[in-house]
Amino acid sequence: PVVTRFAPSPTGFLHIGGARTALFNWLFARHHGGKFLLRIEDTDRARSTQPAIDAILEGMRWLGLDWDGEAVFQFARADRHAAVAHQLLAAGHAYKCYATPEELTALRESQRAAGKPMRYDGRWRDRPESDAPAGAPFVVRLKAPTTGSVTIPDRVQGDVTVNNAELDDFVLLRSDGTPTYMLAVVVDDHDMGVTHVIRGDDHLNNAFRQLALIRAMDAVVGGWPDPVYAHIPLIHGSDGAKLSKRHGALGVEAYRDELGILPEALGNYLLRLGWGHGDDEIISREQAVEWFDLAGVGKSPSRFDQKKLENLNGLYIRGADDARLAELTAARLGVDEAGRTTIETAMPVLKLRAANLNELADGARFLFAVRPLPIDEDARPLLEGGNTEVLAALHTALDALPHWDTEALETAVRGVAETRGIKLGAAAQPLRAALTGRRTSPGIYDVLALLGRQESLARIADQMA
Ligand code: GLU
Repeated sequence: PVVTRFAPSPTGFLHIGGARTALFNWLFARHHGGKFLLRIEDTDRARSTQPAIDAILEGMRWLGLDWDGEAVFQFARADRHAAVAHQLLAAGHAYKCYATPEELTALRESQRAAGKPMRYDGRWRDRPESDAPAGAPFVVRLKAPTTGSVTIPDRVQGDVTVNNAELDDFVLLRSDGTPTYMLAVVVDDHDMGVTHVIRGDDHLNNAFRQLALIRAMDAVVGGWPDPVYAHIPLIHGSDGAKLSKRHGALGVEAYRDELGILPEALGNYLLRLGWGHGDDEIISREQAVEWFDLAGVGKSPSRFDQKKLENLNGLYIRGADDARLAELTAARLGVDEAGRTTIETAMPVLKLRAANLNELADGARFLFAVRPLPIDEDARPLLEGGNTEVLAALHTALDALPHWDTEALETAVRGVAETRGIKLGAAAQPLRAALTGRRTSPGIYDVLALLGRQESLARIADQMA
């Protein structure tokens, strides 16, 4: 059975790259009817925070990435991690290293000066315990293979090979007895039964060390199989550089709150960012579960394109349920239940143009404007000079209508334009400004219909005098 996991470090919000990693793991597990687990890697005590944990959990829930069972907290498992290191120590697959920080600094300096890669030289690897200075602090290092090579058949990167001579005897336990990140990840993945490690390719180098550790444990106790690795390329910004805050890369909650993106749109966008299924752009979650595979993950980094995300979001807004959109819009505008109902009535019209929830809310504002309407600076000229006469003529024509429906409204407005020998826009634009206080709005007949006879005529009359 397939078991995947998402293992964020709660040192910041759930960013876009992390969300995509979580999505791929979730999809892979769901596609195979397996399990998707969540592990919070909170071992960096200084930088891990509760708000960050909350933001990650909330972001995942918002994106519909439900995890199986309880989230595992890595720090709480430190004793278990240490126990594994001691098992390796007892079996001779790890050793105590008494090199002092000064010694190690000197080693690095000399390697740097010689232009050699900086790595631990194994100076305590074969020294007898009797050499140990009494009571001196030590770290525990893995006795890693020094000859031969390791090949990882990565499901995204292909076969990746590293000579063991390039890997050093890395630290498992620090001198204060606390486990290193490298040890914790491996032990947790094993204990959680993780079969597939799908993560950013910035972890590819770690995989070789982690595999050495896994194989050492397999040799000592058995039952520690190699996981399947899939290292996915990182997301880059539009300039091709690794995505960072500089590119406006935000936490997923900012896409929700500040940019007004729907979760299904962000999910679809992230899916397409690095994974493809032919030319399909709009892919439902159900479809994604059916189709997702690691073979479809590209090898080269994908570029984050805000414009594309907005376009996709617009498509999802047009397909979304009116009641749900009304709820989200009402919350943005801070209007009450009656307001929500008004917005829902207007939603079929409002959602035609909006690329995000902010635009939706903005487009709905005229429904709640209070007379006399505040008029946008750039809409003011539309209500001056000869346009006041146009408005008076419109008022007369509209007031005479027996039925206030879009068809009749259109006929009336067109009639005024024709009679006065002006273009339709020359009538519609002043009308729009009078009704909404703005230069842009939903279709003018829809605006009239939504506001109703009384309010429409009153708003027009306000601008006639
Ligand atoms: N905690 C690591 C990170 O946030 C992920 C470790 C892993 O996936 O193995 O980058």
